[in-house]
Parts: sequence; structure tokens; C-alpha cells
Amino acid sequence: MPLPMKDKFTLPDGIIYLDGNSLGPLPKSVAPRLAGMVADEWGQHLIQGWNLDDWMGQPTRVGAQVGRLIGAPDGSVAMGDTLSLKVYQALSAAVQMRPERKVILSDSGNFPSDLYMAQGLIDQLEQGHELRIVSPEQVMDALTDDVAVVLITQVDYRTGRLHDMAALTAKAQSAGAVMLWDLAHSVGAVPVDLAASGCEFAVGCTYKYLNGGPGAPAFIYVRPDLIDGIRPAMAGWLGHAAPFAFEQTYRPARDIERMRVGTPPVMQMTALEEALRLWDGIDMADIRAASIALSELFIAQVEARCPELRLASPRDPDRRGSQVSFHFANGYAAIQALISKGVIGDFRAPDIMRFGFTPLYIDEADVRRAVDHLQDVLDNRLWDQPAFKTRSRVT
Ligand SMILES: *Cc1c(COP(=O)(O)O)cnc(C)c1O
Repeated sequence: MPLPMKDKFTLPDGIIYLDGNSLGPLPKSVAPRLAGMVADEWGQHLIQGWNLDDWMGQPTRVGAQVGRLIGAPDGSVAMGDTLSLKVYQALSAAVQMRPERKVILSDSGNFPSDLYMAQGLIDQLEQGHELRIVSPEQVMDALTDDVAVVLITQVDYRTGRLHDMAALTAKAQSAGAVMLWDLAHSVGAVPVDLAASGCEFAVGCTYKYLNGGPGAPAFIYVRPDLIDGIRPAMAGWLGHAAPFAFEQTYRPARDIERMRVGTPPVMQMTALEEALRLWDGIDMADIRAASIALSELFIAQVEARCPELRLASPRDPDRRGSQVSFHFANGYAAIQALISKGVIGDFRAPDIMRFGFTPLYIDEADVRRAVDHLQDVLDNRLWDQPAFKTRSRVT
């Protein structure tokens, strides 16, 4: 499949979209598919849609689609809920696998919600667990024999720093810990091979690089040999072995369905299922090569033309995901000024201007034009206006 494939997306005229790492754009085929689902399936089939249109099997079917992008065999990925909840679910199962150990190890580059969910679980358990947070560089050396679970987001949401999945998984497991990866900024951005890594758990969201739309369901991977033994937190009826037997006590399903909780968001799932069809015939190695070429061009151009900015991402492309960030004290206002000129990036406190490079719909000409605008914003201090300094609720 030749890249980019801009004609597959609805991209507003004049916009250069460098924020697909936060919310992917709308694939053109999603609107008609959703309209059809609403009119024909919900509208005509009513409750029979659960069987006639197999809404009930959709989370597992979509899980297999996602699984193909992360090296997970069919039947090892379940869809549903939000990523924060899937972190909780995976972490809870992981902690129970090492009852004699009390430390959940994470790093300071992790997304706050993952850390909050870990803290919340610890408080709920009241079993003396501790969340230990070290710098990303220290994780490998922090694998002491009290670590039960290593909870790491592979690509740092601020800097794009990329952890070595195979190496860290091997090290964690040789130290006796369970490995849980958060793939929020990895899936659809970098090649991932969960099966080869041997990690126990992985979770991720689908509204970023997978273009599933705002609020798209999250996913959870459980290594196949473990599925049968783990105890799901949030024991909902759709994770039951026989939901329609309506038994009074919970019995987990014998397959990955045990990670389901309640009724799936069928419309969101349908949008995602359609969006995922874009990946048919795409090789993640091609995506990765194109993403690195675009990011390298961006860094070279920005460093040559925007001396006020300082690179916040690793310089080595092998140690970076699909985003590039720069420090700039007036970063928030500069991003707003840039957006007013049609180049959409985003800002992460305290001073990070963040740009995502998604080869499905970004090409080299976009990168060069984006830097033209960025240089204009900086050289002419276009950011220095009150309107650009007022923070919105979402940055
Ligand atoms: C985007 C992101 C989230 C968001 O979680 P939601 O529950 O989907 O809002 C959580 N963790 C990481 C690492 C993320 O990048």
C-alpha cells in the first residue's frame, strides 16, 4: 500500500495535522459505515442486532484486528472500556500473580492516569503495596526482588522516548516480575511483537494512531497461556462463562472474553472496526521507516530554522516513537499561534510543544510547510498575543 493515503481521510482544507498521536482523523469510510449501522442494524434489527449483526462477537473480532498490529495471536485481545480501566484490570490481575511481592514499578515518563490507577488499586487492596516511580533510564536497574509488576508505557507521551520492549520484558521476567506494557503511543506507530516479547499483559487505546474516533474502546492483551488462570477485577456479566445463564455467582469465561465487563459501545466499536480496515495490507515496517524519515526531516528543519526551540525527544530515531517534542518557554502560546495558521500540534506542561508524524496522511511537503509556519510564529513573535495565552480546558 503506497504511503501516504491522504484520500482515505477527511482532512479539512489547509490543515496540516500533526496531532494524530492524540486523536486520529476521520477515515472517510467511517461516516457511511456508521450511518448504515444506525439505520439498518439499530434502526431495523433493534435488539436482534446482537445476533443478526453479531454485535456480541464484535469486541473479540475487533480484538483480532488490533492483535495483528501488535503481534498478538487471535483470541488474546479483548476490546472495551477505556484505557485507564484496562490498566486497572491488567494491573490487578498482574499483582495477584505475585502475592508475595509488594512493589509496582513504573517510570516518571508514564502518563499520569496509569499512575493514578495504580495508586487507586493499591489503596483499594490495602495489602501494603507500593508504587515505585523511577526515571525511565533507571527502570532496568530498579528490578529488585520485591517488584511484583513492571508497568511501563512504551512511548513517553511527552518526549516520545521509546523503551526497548524485548530487553525490558526479558529483564523484568528474569527478576521474577510480571511485565505490563501500555501501548497507547505504540500501536499503529511502531512495530510491536507482543508474542515475541513474551510479556504477560498489554493495554492500549484506539483513538490515537488507530483513528477509532473520540472515546473509541481500549484493548487488553493477556498472554494466551495465562488467560485461564487470571482473576479479573471488575467481574461483569459479559466476562462470565455463560452470561445468559444469569447465574448468581461469577464464573469467568475460559477465554479472553473474561476481560470483558459490560455492554460494549457498539457504535464506537463499529467506527473502530471500519477504521481498522485501513491497515489491511500495511506493513508496520513501512510505517516505521516513513515515520522516521518525516521526524528526522522535521528535527533537521526546526533546528536549522528555529533556534529558540530545544529538542526534548531522543535524537536517536531508534529510541523515539512517532512524535517529536521541543522545549519552548512560551510553548503553549506558540502552539495556539501555529494552530491559527492551520498547523495542529499540541502542548504538554510545563513547556513541551508536541508533534506527531503519522505516515498514513503526512508527507514531506507537509513537514516543510509546518516548519515554514513555525519559523514565522517564532521569528515574528506571533505567539505574543493575549488570545494565544489563555489556556483552554484541553491543551
Ligand atoms: C492516552 C493515554 C491514556 C488515556 O486513557 P483513557 O482512559 O483512554 O482516557 C492513558 N494512558 C496512556 C499511557 C495514554 O497515552
